[in-house]
Amino acid sequence: MISPAQMKIIQIEVTNACIHHCSNCTRFCGLHETTFMMNMKEFQNAVDSLHDYPGIVGIMGGEPTLNPHFAEMAEYLFHARPEGKKADPIRSPIRNFNEFHQRHWNSLQDARRGLWSALGKRYYENLELISDIFPYQCLNDHKNVGLHQALLLPRKELGIEDKTWFALRDKCWIQNEWSASITPKGAFFCEIAAALDMLFDGPGGWPVEPGWWKRSPQEFGSQLQWCEYCSAALAVPKIPGNLERDILSPGIWEKIRNRKKAWKVANNRCTIFQTSAYQAADYTLNYDGVPYLSAQDVRISQDTGHTLFPNKIAILDRTGKHHAFSFENSRIIREEEALQLQFEDWLLILNAQVPIRTLSFLHDAVFNPGIFYYSPGGELIFFNRKASSLKDKDVLPSLLWKKLRQSFPRRKQYCWKNWQTPETESFQEKWNQRIQALIQRGKDSFRYRSGLLLKRIRRKS
Ligand code: SF4
Ligand code: SF4
Repeated sequence: MISPAQMKIIQIEVTNACIHHCSNCTRFCGLHETTFMMNMKEFQNAVDSLHDYPGIVGIMGGEPTLNPHFAEMAEYLFHARPEGKKADPIRSPIRNFNEFHQRHWNSLQDARRGLWSALGKRYYENLELISDIFPYQCLNDHKNVGLHQALLLPRKELGIEDKTWFALRDKCWIQNEWSASITPKGAFFCEIAAALDMLFDGPGGWPVEPGWWKRSPQEFGSQLQWCEYCSAALAVPKIPGNLERDILSPGIWEKIRNRKKAWKVANNRCTIFQTSAYQAADYTLNYDGVPYLSAQDVRISQDTGHTLFPNKIAILDRTGKHHAFSFENSRIIREEEALQLQFEDWLLILNAQVPIRTLSFLHDAVFNPGIFYYSPGGELIFFNRKASSLKDKDVLPSLLWKKLRQSFPRRKQYCWKNWQTPETESFQEKWNQRIQALIQRGKDSFRYRSGLLLKRIRRKS
């Protein structure tokens, strides 16, 4: 086991409510009768307790964007941990969100703020903020058929003796590779222990105070009791996450079988494991580096885009030539409505005839709701009512694109040059992206090397 101080990430669990019910969920979603929501004061205290922790502080759930204070929490984290790599926000329209994620939000190096999300409606509603704040995001829509290991097969029920057990427990791959965490009930040496404390109404964790995370494994003390419920360190069965089914020991089933409001209990999604027939040799241990997903890089399926693509589009057609085209969930609006911002989500202003392929693309790609998109001649304008730049506005200054554009700061404007052939990235965009990637790589490498050098100097002195 390792000290939280040696971990790359420490999580703050802001809720255990989720939009999924994955098999063998590490937060035991589907086995609770009620879910928790961390409040703002608890969150601030958690962030403050980690002020000198050098790694990434993650916001996690469940699905963290379901917490009603999510936006406020993200802002607080941003101001409390401004250092490290900057976020790389979405600007150009994105057809392949998975690829964008890989390129821009997938490196832990030098990041100080992270978000763990299964996407969904609330992620989309907060996309502008998320895109501005988090340089690292672990996104997983759980459509990839990954194998989730059974977590609730206690070693005593499997007949594993102390000598074998302690050696296995101390090598637990989750505690060694994942994170310590903070819940409203305190701070924990291991995120699964924190979730078990929630599941079984335990005594809570350590006080959330500065330096709690510097404890060594010798100081984990009574929190290690949770390992006795947990099979993460053992060779046990794994099943596809999207089966929405948990594998439980008979003893654990006895503890939860009366939770009639728990989704997995109510929906008969619990499989009781025959502990008497357990043979460790039938299964593999997970700490040998075998990834739990078959394709580690494909955590966001293209159809998840449906939750991130513009859904409701109000159309102001100033040419009168687009009657033939109708979007699902879209409506035509009048100039007065547009001026008075009487639309819920996206507004598309058409000042010239626009190809059908462009109109289709608007419904089939990810746009940042905080950005003002416009074609170079103002033929097409596209922006969202919930953009932070429009937060305090009740009315638009004008529908002329040059004036309208001024409602958004420059960094929130995007001139969409290849709007007529949107599937093709323009040469200029590709070139800019390559240059930016090279600059970023250079910066990362410089920081990494200077960090190593500093460490060596410190060690010698
Ligand atoms: S997305 Fe799945 S694994 Fe993640 S918290 Fe939700 S139910 Fe659990
Ligand atoms: S056995 Fe379970 S509770 Fe214990 S360290 Fe491993 S994951 Fe955490």
